[in-house]
Amino acid sequence: MKIYNTMTRKKEEFVPIREGKVGIYVCGPTVYDNIHMGNARPMIVFDTLRRYLLYKGYDVNYVSNFTDVDDKIIKRAIEEGVTSSEISERYIEEVMKDMKDLNVMEATTHPKATEEIDDMIAMIETLIEKGHAYEVNGTVYFRTRSFKDYGKLSKKNIDDLEAGHRDEKHALKVSGEGEKEDFLDFVLWKPKKEGEPSWESPWGDGRPGWHLECSVMSKKYIGDIIDIHAGGEDLIFPHHENEIAQSEAANEVEFARYWMHNGFLKIDGEKMSKSLGNFFTIRDIGKKYPLQVIRFFILSAHYRSPLNFADTLVESSKASLDRILTAVGRLEDALNAATDRELNTEEQEVQTRLAEYVTKYENAMEDDLNTADAISVIFEMVKLTNSAISADTAKSLVEEAFTTVGKLCDILGIITKVEAEILDSDIEALIEERQAARKAKNFARADEIRDTLAAQGIILEDTREGVKWKRA
Ligand code: AMP
Ligand code: ZN
Repeated sequence: MKIYNTMTRKKEEFVPIREGKVGIYVCGPTVYDNIHMGNARPMIVFDTLRRYLLYKGYDVNYVSNFTDVDDKIIKRAIEEGVTSSEISERYIEEVMKDMKDLNVMEATTHPKATEEIDDMIAMIETLIEKGHAYEVNGTVYFRTRSFKDYGKLSKKNIDDLEAGHRDEKHALKVSGEGEKEDFLDFVLWKPKKEGEPSWESPWGDGRPGWHLECSVMSKKYIGDIIDIHAGGEDLIFPHHENEIAQSEAANEVEFARYWMHNGFLKIDGEKMSKSLGNFFTIRDIGKKYPLQVIRFFILSAHYRSPLNFADTLVESSKASLDRILTAVGRLEDALNAATDRELNTEEQEVQTRLAEYVTKYENAMEDDLNTADAISVIFEMVKLTNSAISADTAKSLVEEAFTTVGKLCDILGIITKVEAEILDSDIEALIEERQAARKAKNFARADEIRDTLAAQGIILEDTREGVKWKRA
């Protein structure tokens, strides 16, 4: 598979560090509010990468953190008069709900910054020992100029950075950050302010800097070297640049092999963001469209391209996804009606074409996760199955078409899998049990069974001829 590596600005063949295994770290959200569609873009895109790598047979260790200590969380806690952890815990729960509705798989590990403080302190100690960090009045700074490769990801030149910020240097002096040796130095540990969450450290009570959190959590849950490090393109500088500086200075090995960054989700040509106020939360958009549609919409563009949000575009995604879902429904019906027999010549040809589409789809995904092209291939496939497959088609071919379309859609996560469908025999056994419970006047159990079946979309009807049931 080829992956566009932000580090080299080239598409490169993906070669994992350990054969058959991939470690992916995706910078996760700061949990102070519900996520918006822009935040959902990296979640959906890199979940799709993960699904594709799983499809290829890799063992994927997918780590995505929650930044649960941050100024924004503290601000919100003060506004509501609650603790910071109440805010972060509430929004972790909400984000997890949104992720589930977007069909984003749970990460192998979702570390929380506040639970990894000891390791953060340890990394800071290593950096101080190696001369890459220093403490002033309870604040620990990273000595940026001590890391010779600083700027290698964002292609920024350290002297230009310095020159571009002469005025800010003065502002820093005024704000009290003038204690830094160099303007470019950034915070690893900041001292406690009254009313803020804090932890004990060799430099006094305080809390870690944001960049440090990711360096530590990726090391702990993946290792010193990560295969793929990902996030939105706004994270390239300074966040990822600083992560590289910290990790490579501390571990003395390359931090990440491949850097992947998604483009912005925009609205009226501007980045959707909390601060601009031009955002739609996933929660709100979910009231208007099934979130499957949003996932489809996000994947209909290449992940590195900017994507403009507009109702008309989402409407057209809805219509497109409906076409796929209808075709899958037709295949399912055909499968129930088809009979077993050998394939005729025409059917053999359809089978060959199906295989060709799978290759075409894989080629698109192999080319830097081109989901836009992969979706086009699904459409071609659906066109073929709509015209060439019916209840009269040999069952084995219908089955193959059904599972193939399903499998390719599942890599994109665009068809929410219904829980494994309950079998007719199980339904009938439960109905019998319910009848027995009623006879025994155990109405609670009888109602419980009715509810269990209802939750799976099975509707019961008590008639004079006995209990009838149907799938909703
Ligand atoms: P934040 O909570 O702001 O750190 O954002 C979490 C993730 O969402 C990061 O990977 C950001 O790069 C990404 N992100 C935020 N806004 C957008 C946007 N409008 N389009 C694409 N990605 C975004
Ligand atoms: Zn990060």
